Amino acid sequence: MIVASGLTRQFGTRTAVDDVTFDVRRGEIVALLGPNGAGKTTTLRMLAGLIAPTRGTVTIDGVQLTRATGGKLRGRIGFLTESPGLWDRLSVRQNLRVYARIYGLADPERPIDTALDTFDLTPHADARAAELSRGMRQKVALARALLHQPAILLLDEPTSGLDPEITRGVRRLLEERRAAGASILLSTHNLDEAERLADRVAVLQGGLLALDRPAALRQRLTTGRLLVRVAGDPAAHLDAVRRIAAAAAVDGPHLVIPLERLEQQTPAIVTALVASGAEVLEVRPEIPALEEVYLRLVNEP
Ligand code: ATP
Repeated sequence: MIVASGLTRQFGTRTAVDDVTFDVRRGEIVALLGPNGAGKTTTLRMLAGLIAPTRGTVTIDGVQLTRATGGKLRGRIGFLTESPGLWDRLSVRQNLRVYARIYGLADPERPIDTALDTFDLTPHADARAAELSRGMRQKVALARALLHQPAILLLDEPTSGLDPEITRGVRRLLEERRAAGASILLSTHNLDEAERLADRVAVLQGGLLALDRPAALRQRLTTGRLLVRVAGDPAAHLDAVRRIAAAAAVDGPHLVIPLERLEQQTPAIVTALVASGAEVLEVRPEIPALEEVYLRLVNEP
């Protein structure tokens, strides 16, 4: 488990990360969202112990990250940086070997073979890093971050630049690591990815704007509109609904019904529809996409 508490980082007079507090529990994936320059990379670098916070603390499994504890704690962390560097003149396997040595792995060839296999890199094991495509470099960097099976994974845009098949493979792998109890924090600009993969989403913009389950975030912004799908032409039942909600309208297959008190008024709508002979197929409150919630959060004054 990793805990950030009051984490703040200034660069000169600019505050890149402002009093951010959150945790990533065991067996949890948290997605870090935020516009360019929001402080995601800076947060990840502080959590990994690569830069010191101006204020605040990072605690890993109950031990505060300091200069004294850093060396030991970093061994529990797998970090994928924003633009990971490889040793271009070394082969893929040699790159992994260097890291295996840094992590102090006793029997490095086995985890290296597993990592190569996991990322379909075995055929490229002897290729020099300089020859790899961008996506392949990203895969080597990910393999490297996971090599020592760290309990804590900090990943800066892990799927950026990867093709859909590999992206899916990476997501599956992260789900496996989560099931094995890892605490995973990843930054992404892909809201769909955050929604699918993350248990909780943290929206950052200097400070932390929100931290919640994706579904809870979406529900926070109810639109106050009821969507009803009926058999046949919805327009046939518009008059019946408008007696309760004058602004009701038809949108494709749906009746879209703005209601002041959505919960309380829903049964009356259904009753009115049934009385007008409608066969009601579906009734649900309109819930915005995570994207809308996100855009609303980061654009609020
Ligand atoms: P992106 O989505 O574009 O990767 P980000 O959320 O990761 O952005 P950061 O890279 O953490 O954002 O940057 C946050 C702010 O801190 C930016 O204004 C950036 O210019 C500033 N910053 C980051 N690193 C440094 C540095 N070493 N020196 C000075 N300013 C920095």
